[in-house]
Amino acid sequence: MTTPAVPVLPLRPELADEVPYGAPQLDVPVLLNVNENPFAPSEEVVATIAASVAEAARGLNRYPDRDFPGLRQDLADFLAVESGVRLDPSQVWAANGSNEVMLHLLQAFGGPGRTAVSFAPTYSMYPEYARDTHTRWVTGRRAEDFTIDPAAAVALIEAERPSVVLLASPNNPTGTALPRETLEAVLDAAARVPAVVVVDEAYAEFRREGTPSALDLLADHPHLAVTRTMSKAFAAAGMRLGYLAASTALVDALRVVRLPYHLSAVTQAAARAALAHRDSLLAQVADLRAQRDALVAWLRTQRAGGRALQVAETDANFVLFGTFDDRHAVWQGLLDRGVLIRETGPEGWLRVSVGTPAETRAFQDALTDVIAQEE
Ligand code: PMP
Repeated sequence: MTTPAVPVLPLRPELADEVPYGAPQLDVPVLLNVNENPFAPSEEVVATIAASVAEAARGLNRYPDRDFPGLRQDLADFLAVESGVRLDPSQVWAANGSNEVMLHLLQAFGGPGRTAVSFAPTYSMYPEYARDTHTRWVTGRRAEDFTIDPAAAVALIEAERPSVVLLASPNNPTGTALPRETLEAVLDAAARVPAVVVVDEAYAEFRREGTPSALDLLADHPHLAVTRTMSKAFAAAGMRLGYLAASTALVDALRVVRLPYHLSAVTQAAARAALAHRDSLLAQVADLRAQRDALVAWLRTQRAGGRALQVAETDANFVLFGTFDDRHAVWQGLLDRGVLIRETGPEGWLRVSVGTPAETRAFQDALTDVIAQEE
């Protein structure tokens, strides 16, 4: 028998050494690694979603509404309550997670010969959207405290002349929010290029008192897009529903690049049912915020390797802390004790999501134990 020839696949060369993105999905008791909301939907919410999906199922022989006006109206209504900013449904867009919304943005505004800029450390999917749309990817650095220096941001935008500026607020993995002055400086510089400014507010509902959302700048900035998601505060990561608020002109550009019927009738039905229960789904956000602040305060009292732990200021439902001489050993030690967190961020740092009170306690006990063993 002759050995069959190894097939040669014409893979794009830049993908040759790439691996699929994703945090390890391990079966351990305490999962604090991907910034999910630890509270499952109530039985009442589950029943409404099930009834709404059953209704949608009766029409599954037909394609769903391509422009989903009902869902866009519901999302606009939610934003009006959450942020006091009233938008027309034509200013709202949605897709399968805010990941897909941001891919739409890069498909419409990036592309060959174009540049997207951001500031590292930041969300590790951004360079993938750029790669997948053949957009050049350039990052400036954040300061020691993970903030962005407005003058440096303006200088980078003027030097690189990007068509997209991508900023997370709060930023992942650091938790850092974007102050109003920095965003205004970026918006002004971007308008002169011109570039679209994307503020990724995946964690915005967890922001502290006094931290602004970018939503109220939409009225005066047609080149601003604010992305949100139902994955975090809404406790619906499994639903895959991300959305965006922007000018109607910007949304209309995204409608050109989306695949037809990208948002299934099942997803639309589930999301509308969940939005009808927004109060119950968001009920835990205040608790999670308070727990986050308590966790930050506790971590600041801890020492490792003969020095006090550093803890990044956070407006999100997670905390970046460090530094450890061997962060992998600490991550592994926690995993050995049934607690999965994320080995991410600058060298020496680790990120933990805020869980239920019992999960947070389990993390604290495990970390105390691991640090004691390491000393
Ligand atoms: N933006 C940031 C900053 C994130 O951390 C995440 C998820 N980890 C997302 C966007 C994507 O979330 P989703 O696709 O679930 O909406």
